[in-house]
Order: sequence, then C-alpha cells, then structure tokens
Amino acid sequence: MSKLTGSKKATQFTESVIREMTRLNHLYGGVNLSQGFPDFPAPAAIKDAACAAINADINQYAVTWGARPLREAVAREFTRRYGLPIVADEQVTVCCGSTEAMMSTMMAIIDPGDEVVIFEPFYENYGPDAILSGATPRYVTLHEPDWSFDPDELAAAFNDKTKAIIINTPNNPTGKVFSRVELETIAALCRKWDAVAISDEIYEHILYDGHTHIPIATIEGMAERTVTINGLSKTYSVTGWRVGWTISPRTLTGAIRKVHDFLTVGAPAPLQEAGAVALGLPDQYYLNLAAKYKRLRDMLLDILERHHFTCYKPYGAYYIMTDISGFGFSDDVEFARYLAKDVGVAGVPGSSFYKNSSNGKTKLRFCYCKREETLIEADRRLVKLAPVGAQLR
Ligand code: GLN
Repeated sequence: MSKLTGSKKATQFTESVIREMTRLNHLYGGVNLSQGFPDFPAPAAIKDAACAAINADINQYAVTWGARPLREAVAREFTRRYGLPIVADEQVTVCCGSTEAMMSTMMAIIDPGDEVVIFEPFYENYGPDAILSGATPRYVTLHEPDWSFDPDELAAAFNDKTKAIIINTPNNPTGKVFSRVELETIAALCRKWDAVAISDEIYEHILYDGHTHIPIATIEGMAERTVTINGLSKTYSVTGWRVGWTISPRTLTGAIRKVHDFLTVGAPAPLQEAGAVALGLPDQYYLNLAAKYKRLRDMLLDILERHHFTCYKPYGAYYIMTDISGFGFSDDVEFARYLAKDVGVAGVPGSSFYKNSSNGKTKLRFCYCKREETLIEADRRLVKLAPVGAQLR
C-alpha cells in the first residue's frame, strides 16, 4: 500500500463546497450568490489606515497574539457593548481570520475522544474543525421553519465526554438569532457538564427587525467557560484581510496562543493596525450596516420568492436558506450545478450544511452581501429558470 496518500484525517472530509461554488461560478461567468463575501468596497477610513500602516513600515511580525492596539480595541468594545470586563493582555488573541481562531481554539482544548456538540445545519468548517482536532461531533437539529432546537434533544447530546458546544449566532446558514432563553438553556447544560461554549459571533452587527445580539459569555457563569470568536471580515467587508480573534477565559488563553503561534505566527501586521481603527468607528456605522443589509435581504427575498423559491426569512447574518423541492430536481447539488451553468446564478447546495447530506438535499443557500446591481442581475438571469415543475427530468 503506497504511503503517497493523504492522512486518515484529510480523507474524512471533502473540499469546501462553498469555495467550490465560487470557482464554478468563475468558470461560467455567473452572478455569485454562493460564498459570503461582499462585492462592494470596504470603508475608506480603514483602507486608508491599512495603507498608512504599510507606509509607516509596519511590515514585520506583530506580537504573536496580536498587535496591542487591536487587542485593546477588541477588549474595549466588548466591554462597552456588553458590560463584561475583558483584559486584552490576558484574554484576547488575534488570529488569521475567525476560521483560524476556531481551529486554534478546537486544537487547544480538544483531546481524542472528547465530544463537541454542533447545531445542524452548521457552517461547513465546523465538521473538518472537529475531525482535525480529534473531536467526536454530536449534532443537534435546528428545526424548521424557525430553526429552534428541542431542549430535550440538546440535553440528550451532553454527557461526561462533552468538552464543548459550538454556537453561531447570528447563524450561518439559517439567519437564526439565538434568544436569551435559548442561550440560557445552553448555558445551563455547559455549567452542568463543565463544558466550554465556543461562540462564533462573526455576524454580531448584522441583525434585523429588532433582534439583538446576546453573547453567551454574558450569561451567568459563562464568562469563565466561553471562547468568543469574531473578526473584521463581515463587519467591515474585508474577508480577504484574514484578521479575526478569540476572547477567552484566562485558563484557556495560553493553550490557544500556543496553538495559534505554531499554526500561523500571527495575522497580517498592517491590517491589524487598520483593524484597531475599524473598531473605533462610530455606532452609526453599525446601524448603517444593519440597515443596508436589511434592504438587501428584503430585495433578495422578493426576487427569490418571485422565482418560486420557498424562503426562510433570516433575522441576522446575510444568507437566505431556501427550499427547492418544488423545482423537481433529484437533489441540491444537481440543482446548484444547473443554476450555475444554465441560469448563471451560484448558490450553495444545502447538503454542505448537514452531516447526513440527504437532510439538505431540498435546500439551497444564497447570500446577499452584494451590490443592488448584482442582485438585479441575478433577478434578470433567474427568469431563465423554467416554471416550477418544468425541469423534471
Ligand atoms: N462565511 C462565508 C460563507 O459561509 C465564507 C466562508 C469562507 O469561504 N471562508 O459563505
């Protein structure tokens, strides 16, 4: 048997379907509503700050756990918004995007045999994150149409082996915003089983219709057992900068920093300086961001519904999960390929958000972090989508 093969770990997961859809879209020259990245500019103030940092020769490694101005801004803003004191030197670690923040956290806290609870549907990275860190995932369903979980099903997923639960609120791909009652249910189980909450809050500021963001770290007894993950990507429309961070209890910071250091040494130094400027933007910036995404959400909901998609209305983040069962395709991957190739609009097959792909085969996710013109072009192309039922083949 040849040794020139991938490791057992690497063969247990497939390449990212989200990133693959972007490549497929490039191939066919379509409108990319698959991978969640904006096609409009980032705020001028932060681009200027990045250029200024490079011109000031901030071109060498920052401190491995993050440039001080950014770490202090992260701590300051979390405390200002949510009232929880955070000490930058002891609790904040800057990573190469929230993707690395999640991976470093998992590798820092998981031992083989540990179980990690993951709500399903889930952002596709969490599956490989669990495999690479050696965790055994335990999936708990978010039930349609409101993506609520059954507290008994959640309780049944916890046991002595449970090391952590991954929470993502506002949620990708469903647009769910976890309520205080739901977070308290999760928190009670974390306290009962001595488990860590790993809370991916990357869509923190993208909320609609009066929903508010509650970090689980602010719930009683959770500050000492929560790793909060966030980054610049979605809030400041700079997904390619790769700057994210963890806010961790002091007991976990050392392990996270060691893993982070040996994985990547550090995030891009000049972009961390710009990040500190970004976090200092006035509150109006965040209100404008949410208002802009609400307009785009309503616009894409209208477009998709006119073209016969059944939509699950999101209350946060910038994705719309849709039901495609009415189109008569055998599964979501076939439909997504047809849509990208023959219609010229790319979405993400629902199965990539489920462990058991058959659970997502009637779903397709679209994103709306796009210019209005882009959504209008998608609308124009979707006219090609034959009437419901006509694609039966
Ligand atoms: N979070 C974005 C999405 O779900 C992009 C993720 C990525 O490709 N890094 O589409």
